[in-house]
Amino acid sequence: MIDFHTHLGNLDREGYPKRPPLTAEQLLWRMNEWGVDLAVLQPLESPEGGWGYFLTEDAIAVRNRYPERFVAFLCIDPRYPSLERLFDVFVQQHDCRGVGEHVNGLKFDDPLNLRLYAKCQEYGLPLVFGDDLNCFDEPGLPRLERCLREFPKVTFCGHGPGFWSAISGDDDRTIVYPKTPIRPGGALDRLLERYQNLYLDLSAGSGNNAMTRDPEFARGFIHRHWRRMLWGTDYCLVHQVVPQVQWLRDLDVTPEMRAAIADGNARRLLRLA
Ligand SMILES: [Zn+2]
Repeated sequence: MIDFHTHLGNLDREGYPKRPPLTAEQLLWRMNEWGVDLAVLQPLESPEGGWGYFLTEDAIAVRNRYPERFVAFLCIDPRYPSLERLFDVFVQQHDCRGVGEHVNGLKFDDPLNLRLYAKCQEYGLPLVFGDDLNCFDEPGLPRLERCLREFPKVTFCGHGPGFWSAISGDDDRTIVYPKTPIRPGGALDRLLERYQNLYLDLSAGSGNNAMTRDPEFARGFIHRHWRRMLWGTDYCLVHQVVPQVQWLRDLDVTPEMRAAIADGNARRLLRLA
């Protein structure tokens, strides 16, 4: 089983010193409890990405300490002047297998972000992005659609409230965790049908809300898109509650679908045997 979305380090800076940073060993302890073999470490390097920073170098160091248990992604704030050079270093010298968590205050198709996607395209790397309601895109996700079209070799793995609210046809990007029944005709079904390079990151409150707010709709959605679903937690704080573990245990799907969501789809993107 693979957790496609985790973070480490001192992300809750405002809680200092009461909230201690999450360590690799604490995450490993939880992974063992959940039955997770491998976790993707996603650095966070932008002022809009969270409360603190988790540097790519730190993700690499942890992966080097526990190469059997972690995969390292890279994260670069696209406002960083020598983005291309740093990207090459992280991929060529440190075997970073993807990009994320990509989240910043720019529009999704801002020229600076396009530079980053061009590097992902060059290496064929997946990119996990967190869409916040306040930035990145508009209702219907037209900026994401433009990038799906222009960068067909980049697997865009969607995550966050602004992404998952687009599961419903009535999404106007005003509600972080909508609880109402899902209306058919949402942007996600449309984009998943049209673009093979769009994947779904099930982690965090946003992923969990999308999968539980309307069980009837979710059942059909999972049957349509299970080949592109990535199980994950977004674990980043000690004692964090993680509903995805029980959700997966209770999921009423075939063994083939369960294996794909929990492990196989991630393995393919990460180029693991
Ligand atoms: Zn995250």
